[in-house]
Amino acid sequence: MYKHLISFIRKTFNEPDGFIPLHAPVFNGNEKKYVLDTIDSTFVSSVGKYVNRFEQMMCSITGAKYAVATVNGTSALHLSLILNNVQSGDEVLTQPLTFIATANAIKYVNATPHFIDVDTDTLGMSPEKLATHLAEIAEVKNGVCYNRNTGNKITACIPMHTFGLPLRIDEIVTICEKYHIPVIEDAAESLGSHYKGKHTGTFGILGTFSFNGNKTVTAGGGGCIVTDNQEIAHLAKHLSTQAKIPHTWEYNHDAVGYNYRMPNINAALACAQLEQLDKYIENKRELSNLYADFFKNDHHIRFIQEIEDAKSNYWLNTILLEDRTKRDEFLEQTNSNGIMTRPVWTLMNKLEMFQDTPRSDLSNAEWLEDRVVNIPSSVRI
Ligand SMILES: *Cc1c(COP(=O)(O)O)cnc(C)c1O
Repeated sequence: MYKHLISFIRKTFNEPDGFIPLHAPVFNGNEKKYVLDTIDSTFVSSVGKYVNRFEQMMCSITGAKYAVATVNGTSALHLSLILNNVQSGDEVLTQPLTFIATANAIKYVNATPHFIDVDTDTLGMSPEKLATHLAEIAEVKNGVCYNRNTGNKITACIPMHTFGLPLRIDEIVTICEKYHIPVIEDAAESLGSHYKGKHTGTFGILGTFSFNGNKTVTAGGGGCIVTDNQEIAHLAKHLSTQAKIPHTWEYNHDAVGYNYRMPNINAALACAQLEQLDKYIENKRELSNLYADFFKNDHHIRFIQEIEDAKSNYWLNTILLEDRTKRDEFLEQTNSNGIMTRPVWTLMNKLEMFQDTPRSDLSNAEWLEDRVVNIPSSVRI
């Protein structure tokens, strides 16, 4: 079984018998040049020209007015919740199907993740499920949304564009506006993905990105907040640099800040990578077309494609197996043949830390958890 697929993947990646990873970075642009430049200049740390250049590039790529570089995507999410004034005891809506960082960031501010089901085509937060659930449990008093069952405030919503596939973000924003809930987009996986012609991460009040080693573009480690709101952008930069009041020699701080600023050496790597983003996306979309074509007559495996009006970066290509047994068989056979494949994350609501948190009906996420598998998706050189 799966012999045909395994040889197709080997041929596609031009790798006759070696190991094929899920996603490996490619460094064949200005990476070495820029990183060496930071070393030669001695500006490797939190001040330097590449951080500014990185932020400018992120503005032009996403179309956002402001971009603030951070040490990683998790810190960008943490800061975002602080910037939106999420308080201890509040509830924050998010998906059960996401990487742990989304739910952890909510815990960092002592808030509680409140899980909303996903759609089975986008793997992202479902507008229908959100609307139904809020109609059941939410009420707005004096411009603040409350969970009627728990009495807690619901002060943010973090949908996530899973594997680069854009979710129905415009509908999520419209529903949340009705309930006065600000939307923070976790766009960690969707750099270069667009919905209705607009870059993911720019629909809500702000969006966050990750530049970890396994993402479409890497800084080694890095993150970014994008927003059109000047006040939020300024505060993001301030809080990410220890809330230090700028002065040539004095050290004064007007808040409890964080050491969350991206170092120049990481920004240098990211700049060189961002220069190649268009090429990467083209390459990745070409790969997704090859997969789509390969699976099109397969009655047992479904290849997940972007919905109408969406343009995915296809960060990680995704298939659906028929059930959990078939999924495990597939994982066993591909991995034992040197082809790295991976199931989706264990749902957040099943983890010990989040077991007793509020939630909507999660039947779609549960159905997907048994079936989703990621297949090799690196940029091919
Ligand atoms: C990668 C990722 C993050 C965290 O980014 P780091 O840079 O690793 O901290 C957050 N959310 C999602 C959905 C991710 O995939």
